[in-house]
Amino acid sequence: MAFEGLSERLQKTFSKLRGKGKVTEADVREMMREVRLALLEADVNFDVTKTFIKTVRERAVGSEVLESLTPAQQVIKIVNEELTKVMGTTAVALNNAPKIPTIIMMVGLQGAGKTTSAGKLVHYLQTEQKARPLLIAADVYRPAAIEQLQTIGQQLQVPVYDEGTQVDPVTIVEHGLTQAREQKNDYVLIDTAGRLEIDTQLMDELRRIKDLAQPNEILLVVDSMTGQAATHVAEGFNEQLDITGVILTKLDGDTRGGAALSIRAVTGKPIKFIGSGEKLAALEVFHPDRMANRILG
Ligand code: GDP
Repeated sequence: MAFEGLSERLQKTFSKLRGKGKVTEADVREMMREVRLALLEADVNFDVTKTFIKTVRERAVGSEVLESLTPAQQVIKIVNEELTKVMGTTAVALNNAPKIPTIIMMVGLQGAGKTTSAGKLVHYLQTEQKARPLLIAADVYRPAAIEQLQTIGQQLQVPVYDEGTQVDPVTIVEHGLTQAREQKNDYVLIDTAGRLEIDTQLMDELRRIKDLAQPNEILLVVDSMTGQAATHVAEGFNEQLDITGVILTKLDGDTRGGAALSIRAVTGKPIKFIGSGEKLAALEVFHPDRMANRILG
């Protein structure tokens, strides 16, 4: 289960406070040392952890806690609030274009769940808004990626625009957008190529697609199982493409929590959705407060 290690460690740390009628500054310091270790072990970014601990410690040695009759609850409340803040405080909606179509470019490393997430997002838009999206297959390096997208399109009964693997992806996107405008699709999702790591050729191609399509959203799909690496990937893509948000996948696995807790603080960009399974319905809007509650158990 996601965050299991982190949840257990935090709960254990807080349970030591529960028996206490009064909490001293020394108790708070000791507890925060343990919280710090728990966060680092969950692969939370070092600087994010440092700032988080400092903020919680400052609040927790205030009168709000030290003079409280229920100090343990007060501390947990502060930790909950600050975890929520680190993850962005509130859910952030999709940027919709003032005039259809809203163009969403999906980017990410190979295997992160980009193509699957494109399908999930289509399903979400169909369910929530009765949308009529078009998918564009712009990953021309893997024939299997185009087939995968076509299969998803059939399952969801949405058109998938592709021109095989021999045409420049920018041209494919241009033609796909023309079709979407003609057929009045309200959303266009562009599935772009991924690589095993960030390289200049990939980034150049993505920038060319971005320049042409002028997307309303550039959603970076990252695999939460990769922990700190997911945060680095988010930093890299954001520097190169100025992404608008993140889809964090595979939160149904035993991910430790580092990516969920670090990405917003490191990149300044919100996690907009989380993937919680392989099925097309397994996509949820990311709510920082619910995630904090889940972590604190
Ligand atoms: P891409 O290379 O980034 O397009 O990745 P794919 O969309 O092909 O996904 C790679 C693998 O991850 C596939 O086996 C997906 O079923 C799986 N996957 C994607 N998202 C999730 C998720 O949220 N949870 C789980 N358990 N698996 C996922």
